[in-house]
Amino acid sequence: MLVCHQCGMRRRYDADAMQAKVGDVCLPSLRLRIAAAEGCEKIGNPYYDRCGLAYDVQAMGLG
Ligand SMILES: [Zn+2]
Repeated sequence: MLVCHQCGMRRRYDADAMQAKVGDVCLPSLRLRIAAAEGCEKIGNPYYDRCGLAYDVQAMGLG
């Protein structure tokens, strides 16, 4: 599960769906690639008010 507290986005992805959407990139940048792909408006500035999209490991059953 990926959630963004800035824009309220909630997306459930499995690994295959993530790769299909954004390709095989390392996870920190993958997070922002997904935000961009999903239309989050908070990704323009990398240093201020950046998209809060984050992995919710508890919702993914990993935490
Ligand atoms: Zn966002």
